[in-house]
Amino acid sequence: MDKKLFVISGSSGVGKGTVISNFLKRNPDFMLSISCTTRKMRVGEVDGVNYFFLTQEDFTTCIENNKFLEWAEFAGNYYGTKKKYIFECLEKGKNIILEIDTKGALQLKEKMPEAVLIFICPPSLEVLENRLRGRKTEDENTIKKRLDEVREELKRAENFDYKLVNDDLDTAVIRLEEIIKGELNAQR
Ligand code: ADP
Ligand code: 5GP
Repeated sequence: MDKKLFVISGSSGVGKGTVISNFLKRNPDFMLSISCTTRKMRVGEVDGVNYFFLTQEDFTTCIENNKFLEWAEFAGNYYGTKKKYIFECLEKGKNIILEIDTKGALQLKEKMPEAVLIFICPPSLEVLENRLRGRKTEDENTIKKRLDEVREELKRAENFDYKLVNDDLDTAVIRLEEIIKGELNAQR
C-alpha cells in the first residue's frame, strides 16, 4: 500500500491541533481522521466534527466488536480510531492525517508499518505547560494528569519516524509539509 497514513502525536498542549489545522488550510485535499472518545465535550466542540463522543459502554462495545484500528487510554479517558473510516479513505486513495496519542501511534505502526509517525515536541517543558494552561480548557486535576504522561510519551517518541519542534508556528507547519511531501515524493 502507498504511504498515505500520517500519524501525528505530541504531548497535550504542544500544539498538534493548531499545527494540523494550519496544515489542512494549505492542503485541503488531506482527510483528517475523526476519533472516538469517552472524554467530556469541551465548550465549542461538536459531536461528529471534533470527535465522536461515546459513553464508556459504547466504547467498550466497539472494542469487543473489534471496530477500532487502535485505541488507548489517555489521562483517564479512552480514545480510538474506527477502522471503517480509515479503510474507506485509503480505498478512495486519500491521504489521511491521524492525531492520536503515542501508544495508539505505535499500535498502528505494528499493524500498518507503512504509516509515517511524526512527533511534535515543545520548545521546552515550561512552554508546554504554559500552552496547556493558557488554553484554559482543562481543570487543574486534568492538567496534572496530562503533564504526568509527558515522560513516557517522550520515551515512545524515540520510535517515531520524525520529530519536529513547534516553536514558531509557521516554521512548524512548513516543516510538517516538508516531511509529508518528502514521504509522498519518495514513494512515486
Ligand atoms: P494540542 O492539540 O497539542 O493539545 P493545541 O493545538 O490545542 O494543542 O495548542 C495548545 C495551545 O497552544 C493553544 O492555545 C494554541 O493556540 C497554542 N499554540 C499552539 N502552537 C503554538 C505556537 N507555535 N506558539 C504559541 N502558541 C501555540
Ligand atoms: P484531547 O483530549 O486533548 O482531545 O486528546 C488527548 C490525547 O488523545 C491526545 O494525545 C490525542 O492525540 C489523543 N487522541 C485523540 N484521538 C485519539 C485516537 O483515536 N486514538 C488514540 N490512541 N489517541 C487519540
